[in-house]
Amino acid sequence: MTTADQQPSAFRRWVRENLLLVLTVLGVFLGSLVGLLARQTEYSDEVVLLVGFPGELLLRSLKMLILPLIISSLVSGLACLDAGASGKMGSRALLYYFSTTIMAAILGITVVVIIHPGDPNSGKNVVPKEKSDEESSVMDALLDIIRNMFPDNLMQACFQSVKTQTTKFNKTYGEGDEARVVPAIKRDLVDSPGTNVMGLIIFCVAFGLIAGQMGPQGKLMVDFFLILNEITMKMVCIIMWYSPFGIMCLVAGNLMAIDDLADTARSLGMYMATVITGLLIHATVSLPMVYFCVTRKNPFKFCKGIVQAWALALGTASSSAALPITFQCLEVNNGLDKRVTRFVLPVGATVNMDGTALYEAVASIFIAQKNDMNLSIGGLITVSLTATLASIGAASIPSAALVTMLLILQALGLPTHDVALIFTVDWLLDRMRTSINVLGDAYGAGIVQHLCKDELARMDAEAERRDRQMAEMLRSGSVALSGGRGSLLPRGGMVALMRLSAKSICGYS
Ligand code: ASP
Repeated sequence: MTTADQQPSAFRRWVRENLLLVLTVLGVFLGSLVGLLARQTEYSDEVVLLVGFPGELLLRSLKMLILPLIISSLVSGLACLDAGASGKMGSRALLYYFSTTIMAAILGITVVVIIHPGDPNSGKNVVPKEKSDEESSVMDALLDIIRNMFPDNLMQACFQSVKTQTTKFNKTYGEGDEARVVPAIKRDLVDSPGTNVMGLIIFCVAFGLIAGQMGPQGKLMVDFFLILNEITMKMVCIIMWYSPFGIMCLVAGNLMAIDDLADTARSLGMYMATVITGLLIHATVSLPMVYFCVTRKNPFKFCKGIVQAWALALGTASSSAALPITFQCLEVNNGLDKRVTRFVLPVGATVNMDGTALYEAVASIFIAQKNDMNLSIGGLITVSLTATLASIGAASIPSAALVTMLLILQALGLPTHDVALIFTVDWLLDRMRTSINVLGDAYGAGIVQHLCKDELARMDAEAERRDRQMAEMLRSGSVALSGGRGSLLPRGGMVALMRLSAKSICGYS
């Protein structure tokens, strides 16, 4: 036997090194194949339930980890940054989020205006699935976003957020003949199910920053969150090996559950094609270009590292469900600094939604086109701004964009119940836009790391200097501590201990 025969072939070696990636992509393909083939046969609802069940378990276990992950990563991440570094990192991340989201909204407007999918006579056979009679003004929606940033009960914020509910009624002014009846609106604050992630983020950012500034006094608390973060990430690692199978079942189950695949594709085909074209351009041109221009690194190599997170977003339609895997992909596959991911990713998953902004811009102009309404330049600017805002306000859960879309429709004076028209195809478009949301978050973390490399290097040097200084001090002066007669630790033990804790606090290994 020759040496060449004994060596594994390059392909086999590549597969072994990228096994999880290969399995994940295979999961998506097999899931689509099984789903499409199964549609040719007859099956009951129970079969759909059982096919999708392993996928449901994947989703549940990921959701279980979201809260500990967001809290521990934000607190420990911010505690390790000095105020200057966290300020710079935060402002750069926000600048990236805002500019790419507005870019996505403008791209959405451009494709929908060029393709013009909204012929007023087409899609007449589409039966609205659900009629939304939710009426909320732009002002109420904005106030709700801000209100949720300051939760009045932290425990409640873990599973509920607040929302303004409006009811129309007639108000009478004056008495007798003078009486005037004027339509008015009554506002009530109601609790709506779903974690108030924005509120938790604000709290954790403040908590982490203050804990970090407290020095040795706050160390115990910081260590607690650091260890919580490590444990959660280890759990994510286990779930990751189950995810290819879970994704396959999710995709197959979802495809089998759709009633009228061909019919919806026929009636809303052009609209779907417009959204997909916009998302594809954003994923393959805009985002890689921004990444390349800023970092001068190969964006497609970066992209390869996050395929698992992307596939999971495709399978779950929720960027927060994909968050644990996004962390793992960026830290392990792409080697990003934990100080960056811990800070940037939880915020990104909540506020940075390029796919959603693009989708909302296309969908609202599509509705305008169907209503035979031509938007002026002012109208288009309103769409780009409100779509950006609506995407920031959207929760990172399935179909959240349909709720915040009402904000844009209201701003344009379009009938809000027309959202029902696009409900039918949201199962597919939601997955696609979510995968672009996750892609945008990942590129964002890469860009912020590049922009903050000087601060990070400075922090590393500073930590090393402190480390050396402490070791020096212990060696020269504090003999009693570091190993002289009557000392509590053997010689060098204290130095090692200090070094260990400095490293664990700052998150570099
Ligand atoms: N499902 C999306 C997400 O989780 C939000 C949306 O666009 O509906 O990112």
